[in-house]
Amino acid sequence: MALNPRTTRYEFFGPPGAALVMVGTTLVPYLLYFGCQGPDRCPPPLYTAGPWEGLVDRLQALTVADVFRADIFALYVAWFLYLVVLYYALPGSAVPGTVLRNGQRLPYRINGFRSLLVTCGVMFAVYQFYGGHRLFLFISDNYVYWLTSATLFSTLQAVFVYVRSFRRAPPNQEALLALGGNSGNTVYDFFIGRELNPRIGSLDLKVFNELRPGILGWFVLNFAFLIKQAQTLDGGITDSMILIFLLQGVYIFDTLIFEASVLTTMDVTTDGFGWMLSFGDLVWVPFTFSLQARYLSFHPTVLGPVNSGIVLAVAVVGFLIFRLSNSQKNIFRTNPHDPRVKDLKYIETESGSKLLISGWWGLARHINYLGDWLFGLSWCLTTGFDTPIPYFYVMYFAVLLVHRERRDDHKCRTKYKKDWDRYCSIVRYRIIPGIY
Ligand code: NDP
Repeated sequence: MALNPRTTRYEFFGPPGAALVMVGTTLVPYLLYFGCQGPDRCPPPLYTAGPWEGLVDRLQALTVADVFRADIFALYVAWFLYLVVLYYALPGSAVPGTVLRNGQRLPYRINGFRSLLVTCGVMFAVYQFYGGHRLFLFISDNYVYWLTSATLFSTLQAVFVYVRSFRRAPPNQEALLALGGNSGNTVYDFFIGRELNPRIGSLDLKVFNELRPGILGWFVLNFAFLIKQAQTLDGGITDSMILIFLLQGVYIFDTLIFEASVLTTMDVTTDGFGWMLSFGDLVWVPFTFSLQARYLSFHPTVLGPVNSGIVLAVAVVGFLIFRLSNSQKNIFRTNPHDPRVKDLKYIETESGSKLLISGWWGLARHINYLGDWLFGLSWCLTTGFDTPIPYFYVMYFAVLLVHRERRDDHKCRTKYKKDWDRYCSIVRYRIIPGIY
């Protein structure tokens, strides 16, 4: 079989769909920013034209200078390079990735959590010894310039990896392409990702992007918005801001503590590295996931103990489902004899892998998505109900997870064939037990 067979099945409705997704997702963070930018500029739940009056005119009147600053772009590049330096400078363990179809197993340097701790230390030092709020107000006040810088950088990076995927790697061999990214259509392959694991030296661009500049950037942005709120309230911080900072902080810390588990996700094992992941990692995650903190920075919301308790309860339930289910699968796949999983039921498949049919994974085929979504709901709830805009996250995330489950289902059906049908007849629900 050829190393890189032609892709014959399109996702995202092919090249037109890919083009539409690229244009649409590029515009969304700007629309969220310009459409919800200050206390009187976010529409209330029952839409009235007021807050958005003149929005189209304002958008049309925008010039490049309103959204782009070369000095901030340079600082953004410095941020990216700072994380590359940490990647090489900090100690890290080498964890092997999954076996690739060319038989190789690439090593990955795992030190993202240390990068986060060092970055927290740098933030503390800057805050303490260098102008207190100043740097963080500079970050929050220039949000739109950071957004444009990240968008430009992620697109340039996607062009770079696309062009580079055509090289012949030594010894006169093609680069290993993603099975889904070799259609021959430039727009589609550029979007979905052509090369599976583009690397510069030992730096794996896909995993680096997935876990460093965007995820850590999101944490820094949230802190900058917390400081912004403190400025607005003359030093005060609301309970909702503390909650969003802590809850999203838990998610960010969790992602980096369990950094190695990213190596078995669909993004790493199956998808190529193209515009979709470059933009998703560098723009979508930090700039749309920080929407709640940005909103609370100019719309301080006091929840009080009861509402805070409700938010926390949703968060705890969501996080426990998310973390326990993901861990259960990881433990089972690493060592099925581990006492924590040895009594779980599973089915054997012809491919050699085992599929769990009890415990968390007996409840629904992607119970982890349900937990992730509920946790995300708790973030949105911190903003109250004065406008639906900060709920964008759960609306988008529901679409992503339903679509992702279908993509994973297709992948597993192709891999496990009739064993997958057998598994689906035992574990009948996709995401929500008893409902979907
Ligand atoms: P999952 O962790 O859900 O894993 C899916 C894979 O697990 C399948 O392809 C299959 O792989 C294996 N598998 C499926 N069923 C079973 C079973 N019953 N027993 C054992 N193994 C099974 O993959 P994702 O990458 O989609 O998600 C990982 C996490 O990341 C999730 O919690 C998700 O919510 C989160 N996520 C968050 C996003 C965000 O924007 N916040 C975006 C995307 C994901 P195999 O071939 O090995 O059998």
